[in-house]
Amino acid sequence: MTGTLTMEGMTMPKITIDAGHKKGWNQYAGQAAGVTEGTVMQTLALACKPLFEARGVDVVLTRPKLDDDPLLQARGQMSKSSDMFLSLHTNAAGTASAGKASGTECLFPEKQPSSSSIAAVLSKAVSAFFGIKDRGAKTWNQAQGKPAGSGELGVFTGALAVNTPVCLLLEAGFHDNATEAKMIVERLQGLAATIVNTLCDARGWGKTVLPQNPGINTPAPSPAPSGTVYRVQIGAFENKANADALLARAKAAGFTDAFINAGAK
Ligand SMILES: [Zn+2]
Repeated sequence: MTGTLTMEGMTMPKITIDAGHKKGWNQYAGQAAGVTEGTVMQTLALACKPLFEARGVDVVLTRPKLDDDPLLQARGQMSKSSDMFLSLHTNAAGTASAGKASGTECLFPEKQPSSSSIAAVLSKAVSAFFGIKDRGAKTWNQAQGKPAGSGELGVFTGALAVNTPVCLLLEAGFHDNATEAKMIVERLQGLAATIVNTLCDARGWGKTVLPQNPGINTPAPSPAPSGTVYRVQIGAFENKANADALLARAKAAGFTDAFINAGAK
């Protein structure tokens, strides 16, 4: 099972976000010393977290602190029980053509072709946000121009080992291209919102999900005689603490006159 079980018996979707590399790794062209892929992507991951949470998605970060640098396979394995693993990167074209390449791409595991369509959707959305080329969805081998079966990313190997059903690695533009590096740094919050909204919309996350509790029903509307009181019930629990927790959520959501009504089953 994937996702996070809440006190109310609901299952929240869960994503593991991996900020690529480590502090100080891969200098951005034209930016101040220390503005690197490892630093900018960690800021991006931190920016995505509250946006996902606002849409009811639980978030695991592989690098909650800037100095964190877990091994690649360990990063993927942190996605155990997550619905998605997302590694955040920016691209580089290699010494020969450094600064000349442009655009977004999104990688998915060769052994998980089911992730290619959402990878394509994410690459397209980020390219549209920046107004740059969409290089599309690719496996690592396709991105490297190598035959299928030649290799796989360490983060994907780790995530596949714990059966994470959707694995993605976003390359959100080229950091050895000074124009794109500047754009990524200046529009990081908008990039975070684009990533979160695109993935949540694609997965149907952030819509109202009814608790998976047999005590909760949506009564069919029926005609009633005058004098009837109409009650709205949002939960029924055998454990008072669970009822208290749902009441607190209802009040936090603005239903300030919600209350608990105890009674026989
Ligand atoms: Zn990278």
